[in-house]
Amino acid sequence: MSRTRVAKMSKLYAPTLKEDPAEAELASHKLMLRAGMIRKIASGLYSYLPLAWRSIHKIEDICRDEMDGIGAQEMLAPILTSAELWEESGRIGAYGPELMRLQDRHDRTFCLGPTHEETFTDLVRNELKSYKQLPVTLYQIQDKFRDELRPRFGLMRGREFIMKDAYSFSATQESLQEVYEDMKGAYARYCERCGLKALPVAADSGEIGGDSSIEYMALADAGEASLVWCDCGFAADDEAASTTVAVSEGPGTGELERVHTPGLGTIEAVAEFFGFPENGTRKSLALVDGEGKPVVAIVPGDHELNEIKAAKLFGDYHLMTDEELEQHGLFKGFIGPVNLPEGVRLVCDRSLEMSKSWTCGANEVDYHFTGACPGRDFTVDAWEDLVTVHAGDPCPHCGKPLKGGRGIECGQVFQIGQDKYAAKMGATFADENGREQPFYMGCYGIGISRTLAAIVEQHHDEHGIIWPVSVAPYEVSVISLDKKGEAFDTAAELAEAFAAEDIDVVFDDRAERAGVKFADNDLMGFPYQVVVGKRGLAAGTVEVKNRSTGERLNVAVADVVAEVA
Ligand code: ATP
Ligand code: MG
Ligand code: MG
Ligand code: MG
Repeated sequence: MSRTRVAKMSKLYAPTLKEDPAEAELASHKLMLRAGMIRKIASGLYSYLPLAWRSIHKIEDICRDEMDGIGAQEMLAPILTSAELWEESGRIGAYGPELMRLQDRHDRTFCLGPTHEETFTDLVRNELKSYKQLPVTLYQIQDKFRDELRPRFGLMRGREFIMKDAYSFSATQESLQEVYEDMKGAYARYCERCGLKALPVAADSGEIGGDSSIEYMALADAGEASLVWCDCGFAADDEAASTTVAVSEGPGTGELERVHTPGLGTIEAVAEFFGFPENGTRKSLALVDGEGKPVVAIVPGDHELNEIKAAKLFGDYHLMTDEELEQHGLFKGFIGPVNLPEGVRLVCDRSLEMSKSWTCGANEVDYHFTGACPGRDFTVDAWEDLVTVHAGDPCPHCGKPLKGGRGIECGQVFQIGQDKYAAKMGATFADENGREQPFYMGCYGIGISRTLAAIVEQHHDEHGIIWPVSVAPYEVSVISLDKKGEAFDTAAELAEAFAAEDIDVVFDDRAERAGVKFADNDLMGFPYQVVVGKRGLAAGTVEVKNRSTGERLNVAVADVVAEVA
């Protein structure tokens, strides 16, 4: 551990901006640019400047502490993953254009990891041999890459971002459940310690009563998710809450328009072409044969949840690769139920039914269908007792009126089970009876850099950021109103005294006007500002300002460190 040193504002690389940058819509994006915390390199790519990096370290350390606390072990895997592993899991085709690929000098394909299930499954498959060695949970904190359709809002949705990803390997479902429960505790504490008001929201309300995936949603108007919740603990994504699985009676019969779409191969391109909202491209889809037996499931995009839903529906489902899509006469971009091969029925996500108009491939190169939703022809089966819930409706658990608002997904936990990676990649162990079985897997992600943005969304005012102490780049700033003399010397001494107590401190030693200093310190959001001036010193005091309450106290110089600590 290095000792705490006094940082000097005169040397700090934090180029502040007076005006709101035109490129930024969200408070977090604007304020982090204005406070000189981040700078854009290209779309979705940001540098973390010194202030941001200090906060990132603190968020990471909270995350580490919580992971270590439940027995997870930190390690680091390469960011690059070989495409062969992605072929083994079958995700290379399913993940779509979000997966960034590159070739090495021997023309071998690698992927910049958007998440690392394959890498970790591969890591343990030849090493963990017996149930006696299980469970094992490994995690890492690392840059991840996703070629997002719409990178935006600064750190909120980047193409390169920092994630904590953890993977657990268990010998039984019960053991997986235990690890999962521990993770839920750790995630709730992580959010709380970062100063975030967050709700655990069941991400797969498709499964009645169960929770095999939970998203941790930081409440903020800027959030992309629309949520409902109740004091009794019920919480749901109001879109997910209404998701029901529907089975078609046959190919859709809505009035569709056949549109010439030259060169539009991918779903994303199609979505762009037709001006779909981003989540309009997230449809799960599966094909079953005449007897209702699954033939294939097509899950476009990266949406793990859709894959898991498909897995639950069909057990032995299958994600099609691009080549397989072609073999079936379906080309990439197929997202709807028209022109299905004879005898093949369609099962699709109810969300199709909710969209007013939609688009799908026509099984014909360069043509798509768009128009009215044929989902109306579907009959609802297994999950029809799920209800759509809105703010104000009675809570399905206790009957009190539901609250509503928006949320930012800061983390997600998944019980994956055996099929999706372990079975596909031949990752097995010998169970108590000596039988080879695939691992029961769980995976658990936290968006570290997105957490930083979410914290700013929840903690700011018209003057700037208001850091919770736990994640503040500096907990205290000591502001000298003079460039030299007694005030300056006292301020310098106070700053050293804070450092000696291991309190992260920045000394505003700049030759700037008081007004400029106050504005910058408010913008950067240090929780405590200690203002040292001649007038106060004449009475033996300095002023301590609490950034979050705005409260100002005159405190005797000798008591300041104790007062703040
Ligand atoms: P989203 O729904 O916002 O696209 P996701 O569900 O695809 O996120 P996960 O695969 O669950 O993301 O990844 C784990 C965590 O990583 C997320 O909960 C989120 O906090 C963070 N994350 C995901 N994508 C991004 C991104 N593009 N930029 C910053 N953080 C991200
Ligand atoms: Mg995503
Ligand atoms: Mg998500
Ligand atoms: Mg997620």
